[in-house]
Amino acid sequence: MNLINLPNNLAQVQSPETAARFVETYGPLLYHYEGGRPAPATEALRPLLAQAEAVRLALRLLEAMQDDNDERLAHLLNAAQVIRRDAPDFGPHSFAMSFLLPDGPLQTTVTLAAPYRTAGEIPWRELAVTLVCTVANQHTVQLYPGLVPSPGGLALERQVTGHVGLSLVQLVWYGVGEIALRGQENVKQRRIRLCEECGTPFYALDGRQRFCPPDPWTAESRCAGRRMQRLIRARRKKEG
Ligand SMILES: [Zn+2]
Repeated sequence: MNLINLPNNLAQVQSPETAARFVETYGPLLYHYEGGRPAPATEALRPLLAQAEAVRLALRLLEAMQDDNDERLAHLLNAAQVIRRDAPDFGPHSFAMSFLLPDGPLQTTVTLAAPYRTAGEIPWRELAVTLVCTVANQHTVQLYPGLVPSPGGLALERQVTGHVGLSLVQLVWYGVGEIALRGQENVKQRRIRLCEECGTPFYALDGRQRFCPPDPWTAESRCAGRRMQRLIRARRKKEG
């Protein structure tokens, strides 16, 4: 199994049907943290969709970070936040936003803050870094190494803590961390990309890759296949 493709595969989940396909392919995403048993299918759908949405957000933030484009980060963070500036105790030197983020099988409101770089200029990139670190670490407590913002808060780096974990969701978020770090090394090639068919972010192992990676144990990308089908149909229609 390719760890670097795992976050994209989860980020593609946006409906009960795609959720079922994910679980068929990989097994249950979440285990009840106590006892280590898989959650029953009926209970598992909502948290799975919430996890998928959070992974999609984290990858889209990382994708936008490659461009150093604060406008896109601002758009993504504004669209994802639940309450604006509800944390006055962070003081006048920091900017805070609240997000509804998954915490294992639950969702909780998390307020994140980042210090202003220059007065009045919202530190979007620092907030994006903090968000990715927070949500990834929440799910990799038992894995090591974790993620921390680099000095200055503009990038991410690994920090060694903890032991070994078990749940698939932990591997997904560990994979998000790997993508964050490799994306930073490959900014020029823009290795974190949006699929040209479905828009889901993925990490391109190959410089020419334009679509979501293939599911495990298959050779062809589902999204590349769908695009090809459409092109063939369009050509037949034109010819017929
Ligand atoms: Zn795709």
